[in-house]
Formats: sequence, C-alpha cells, structure tokens
Amino acid sequence: MTLALRTRLAVGSMAVFGVLVAGISVATYRVLADRLDEDQTQRVVELAQGLHGYLAVSADAASVVAVGADDERATFVHQATQYYQVYDTGTGRLLAESPGITPLGLTLTLQEVTALKARPTPFDVTTDVGRFRFATSLGSSAAGHEYVLQVGTALAPLDQALARYRSVLLWRVPLLLLAGMVAFWWFAGVALRPLSRLAAASEQVDIANLSARLPLRGVTDELDLVAASFNRTLARLEQSVGDMRQFSAALAHELRTPLAGLRGHIELAMRAPGNTAAQHDAFVNQLEEVDRLTRLINHVLTLARAESGQIRLNVTRVDLGQLVAGIVEQLEIVADAAGIALRFEQRGAAVFTDGDAAWLERMVLNLVDNAIKYSNPPGSVVVTVEGGRDLARIAVQDTGVGLSADDALHVFDRFFRADPARPQSSDGAGLGLSLVQWVASEHGGSVAAVSALGQGSTFTVTLPASGRGERGRRVTSGPPTAARS
Ligand code: ADP
Repeated sequence: MTLALRTRLAVGSMAVFGVLVAGISVATYRVLADRLDEDQTQRVVELAQGLHGYLAVSADAASVVAVGADDERATFVHQATQYYQVYDTGTGRLLAESPGITPLGLTLTLQEVTALKARPTPFDVTTDVGRFRFATSLGSSAAGHEYVLQVGTALAPLDQALARYRSVLLWRVPLLLLAGMVAFWWFAGVALRPLSRLAAASEQVDIANLSARLPLRGVTDELDLVAASFNRTLARLEQSVGDMRQFSAALAHELRTPLAGLRGHIELAMRAPGNTAAQHDAFVNQLEEVDRLTRLINHVLTLARAESGQIRLNVTRVDLGQLVAGIVEQLEIVADAAGIALRFEQRGAAVFTDGDAAWLERMVLNLVDNAIKYSNPPGSVVVTVEGGRDLARIAVQDTGVGLSADDALHVFDRFFRADPARPQSSDGAGLGLSLVQWVASEHGGSVAAVSALGQGSTFTVTLPASGRGERGRRVTSGPPTAARS
C-alpha cells in the first residue's frame, strides 16, 4: 500500500520520535534505578562498618553503647540498629539482634556465619514486608572476641520511588507520543504546503497560457528545483507549440492561393460553352467543396494566428445590446429560411464591455449561427443580453437538438463535432466554438454550455462589464473577416 506523502512524512517522523522517547525513557529509568541501588549498597556498608564503634561485645552478648545527645551520632546509631544482628564467629552464637530483624527470619547457623566471614558481600532478602539489603562486617572486641555484624536497610522506599517513576513514564510516554503525532501531522502539512501551491499553480497552466510560469521562492530548495525544471519544460513546450502554430498558419496561408486558383479554373470551365447539365452539376459540387475547404483553411489560419498571439484587439467601449441586436437582425433571414423563430432580448439597462467589436460580433455570430443550424423547425432561438454587478452576460438559448452530457464537455475542443452524422450536422469543421472560447478569454471572460440531448442548449458568454476588466490591452492589426463557421 502506498501512503500519501503527508502520511508517510508524519508516520516516519513519528516512528523516529517514538523510538527516541521510548529509548530515552528506558535509559533514564535504568540509570536512575542503578544509581539509587548503588547508593543503598554504599549506605548499608557504611552503616555496618560504622556500627562497630558503638558495639560492646563479650563472649555471651553484644550491646549498643549509649550515645549522647549528639544528633548526628544518635541518628546514625538509630538507622544502623533498625535491622542488625551480631554472631560470634567461633561458636555461631547470636550475641545481639534488633527487634526489627526477628520477623525477617534471618537466623544464621554456625556454617552460615563461617561462610559469611569468608565472603562478607552485601545481599538482598525478599520478605513479605518488602526487600531488604544487608551488609556483613567482621569485627573483634577489645578482649579478642571475633564476631560478624549484619546490618540491613529496607529497600521499600527505593522500590516505591521507582514504581512511582515507572507509572509516571507509563502515562507520560503515550501522552507525549500522541502530542507528537498531532505535531508531526501538522508539520508535515506545513512542510508540504508549498508543494500544494506548486500543484495548484501548475494546474492553471494549459495550452492557452503556456507562457505562464510557476513561482520560485528563491530559497534554492528541492521545491524550487522542481518548479524551475517544470518551468524549463514549459518553455520548451511553449516553443514547440509556437512552432506548430506558426507551421499551421503558414500551411493554411500557403493553401489559400492554390485554392483560389482552383476556384478560378472551375468557374472558367463552368462558363465554357457546350457543358452538359451533368458537367454543370459536377462543377457546382466542386465549387462547394472548394468553398468549404477555403472556409476551413480560413478558420485554421485565424485560430493559429489568434493562439500564437499575432492578433491584436482593438479595444473600445462596446454596447453589447446594440451589437447583438445587429447580428440577430442580420441572421433573421437565415433563421426564417430554417423555420426558426429568432428573438433578441435586452434585460435591464444597456450593458457595456471593453472589447474588440469586430471579434465580439464574430463570437456572437458563431453562437447564434450554431443555434439556428442545430435546431429543427419550428424551433426558437432567444439571445439575451443582461448585466450583472461587474459582469455582462450574453446567452444564446435554443430549443434544438442539444448535446449529451459527454459531448457538452468537449464541445469547445478543436475539431470536435458531436456525431457528424446527425441530420443537422453542418459542413463545419468543429472550429467555431474554439474561436468563441478564444475571443471570450481574450476579453477576460469565459463561455459555458448547458445542454440536454433533444431539448436544446444554452451557450452563455460572460465578460467583464465596462470599466472593470483589463482595458486597452492590444491594438488591432486589422478586423477579422466575419465568416460564419
Ligand atoms: P461546427 O462548425 O461543426 O458547427 P463548432 O465548433 O461551432 O463547429 O461546434 C462544434 C460542435 O458542437 C458542432 O459540430 C455541434 O455538434 C455542436 N454544437 C455547437 N453548437 C450547438 C448547439 N447550439 N446545439 C447543439 N449542438 C451544438
């Protein structure tokens, strides 16, 4: 399973953090336990060795001599005599013991006393009332009696302190890990945010704006490297697409002259005397084909020029209502002939936009022409102009054949024609709407299609209302030829 990058970063950091926290916790616990244990051993050995000085030992008994009011000595003797016992090494006889040691059942035999004498190392005893540590020390009285002194200390306080520390670790470590998890998830998100921004920026780049570049943050890190290399790829792509556009423009341009020549020849041949009716029909067909080809080539040329930035807009303040009304009037004859009722509606006050009137006209002409072409009689086409707050809207609504949801998605693609076998299908090349889209976007606007198969379509162009969008971007190089697609 491949995890998302953010999850991988968070989980990876979390794993390292978890191992570190657990390792440090175990290590500190061990060091603390060892140090406290050593302290206890040292303390009990000190108590055993120090108690000799306070013992009066005879052959039958041993006793602790009275200590004065000296606080330090009294405290020492009190601590050393909590758990102690004295054995004669010769007879193995118990010479003295504290009341506290009796319940621990540490009574020694002669052999044990002899063994302890040989190896007087500290040892631990575990009883019902907890652990004890004992140190053994050899001594001899002034009268020459040899004895073994055992002094013990309870390890319960040490064990309790360690148990408390363990429980603190047990709930603190998971809490720390939980906090770490949240923090690492957040950090991973923050660290990846520039990547998301990069992705969003690259998402904006398409064939129409290949000159766009991803922003560099100027920190020469991996993200900047990715952005820079993406920008270089874009530059290469822009160059290639530019070359291709220029090539198609040049090709289309070159094709126009021979086509014009061909048309002339056909017309001449048509006028020649003695043509039969069949020959005349053939010439008419050829002329239609040549005209269709010429229209297609003109379209390709216009699009190629438009997309390679060779077309400059002549921006003026355009009354959209007036412009659309003119086109509707122009197309009324075509609509009548097709049995379609064509109507213009201006909603609200006059709407203006800053744009190139000739290109805007061509855009609307294409849309209305399509609406008529793709309608069956007795259909209707309504063209509406209305203004929003900062926007101007031109909607071309027909009751025609409509488009399937899938076709509606591709309707603005170059050379797209929804089922060219449809009876309404024109002899167009599927370039008209690409041009419409180019004009709309060049004016800072957009075009959208809403359609239902068999019920009709609405194409809506949204443009910035006058005084808002970009103004005077370009200067014209000549008006477009208002050809129908
Ligand atoms: P064409 O020259 O083929 O009309 P366009 O780019 O103008 O090229 O349109 C592309 C395709 O979109 C058309 O072939 C047609 O299938 C579909 N189309 C365009 N306008 C409409 C409409 N108003 N109703 C239904 N289909 C449409």
